[in-house]
Amino acid sequence: MNTPATSVADYVSRAVGPIILFGPPGAGKGTQAKQIVERYGIPHLSTGDLLRENVKLGTALGQKAKAVMDSGKLVSDDLVNEMVAERLARPDCARGFILDGFPRTVGQAEWLDGFLSARGSKLPLRVLRIAVDQDKLFKRLTGRRTCPACGAIYNIYTNPPRVPDSCDKDGTSLTFRKDDSEEAIGTRLKAYENETLPLADYYRQRGILTEVDGDAAADDVSRQLFHALEKGEL
Ligand code: ADP
Repeated sequence: MNTPATSVADYVSRAVGPIILFGPPGAGKGTQAKQIVERYGIPHLSTGDLLRENVKLGTALGQKAKAVMDSGKLVSDDLVNEMVAERLARPDCARGFILDGFPRTVGQAEWLDGFLSARGSKLPLRVLRIAVDQDKLFKRLTGRRTCPACGAIYNIYTNPPRVPDSCDKDGTSLTFRKDDSEEAIGTRLKAYENETLPLADYYRQRGILTEVDGDAAADDVSRQLFHALEKGEL
C-alpha cells in the first residue's frame, strides 16, 4: 500500500499483493490469517487446509499426501506447488492473497518467485514472520482443537470454548488433528527447523521480511501485523 488508507473500506477496495505468513507450526498463522482476511478482503490460502480438504475428498493428491501428513513430514514440493498454482489462478487472488504454510522449503520459495514474476505481479511480496518461543509451541499444538463446521480454532489451555469440546459459535463437537499427536508434533517442529527456517534468511536478505512478536496476545499480534502492512515498513 503506497499512500495511507483512511478507512477499512479503503483497505478492502485496494490491492494488497501477495503476503506470506511465516512461522512454526502453532505460531497462530491460521488465527491471524482470519484477521487479515477480514480487514483486507483477500483470500487465505492455507496449504495445510487445502491438503486436508483433498484427503477428505479422497482425490489423487489427497491419497498421496495422507500418510505423509499424518506422520508430520512434508509433502513433496511438486505436489504442493501444483496445488498452489491452481488456487492462485482463481480470480479472487487478483488483488492479493495470504499464503499460510507455504512456502515451506527453499525449493517452494524459488518456485513461488518464478510463478509471481511469470504472472507479472506488480505489487511486492511481503513476508510477515510470527516469532514464538519454541517451548510454548508444544503446548499450543497439543491443546489445539478446531471446529470442523466453521473452522474456529480453540486451545484448551489458553483459549478454551465455553462448553468443553463444543464450538461457541455453532455447538459442533471440536476435533483434534491427527498430526497434533506428540510424536507427529516433534516431527513437524524438526521439519520446520531444518527445511523452513532457512527461508527467514532467504527473505531477510531481500529486505522483505518483517518480524512480529507471536508470544503476545492474539489481538496484539494482529495489530502488529496490520501496522507492518500499513505503515509501509516493507
Ligand atoms: P502446521 O503448520 O500446524 O504444521 P499445516 O496445517 O500448515 O500445519 O500443515 C499440515 C501438514 O500438511 C504438514 O505437516 C505437511 O505434511 C503438509 N503441508 C502443508 N503445507 C505444506 C507445504 N507447503 N509443503 C509440504 N507439506 C505441506
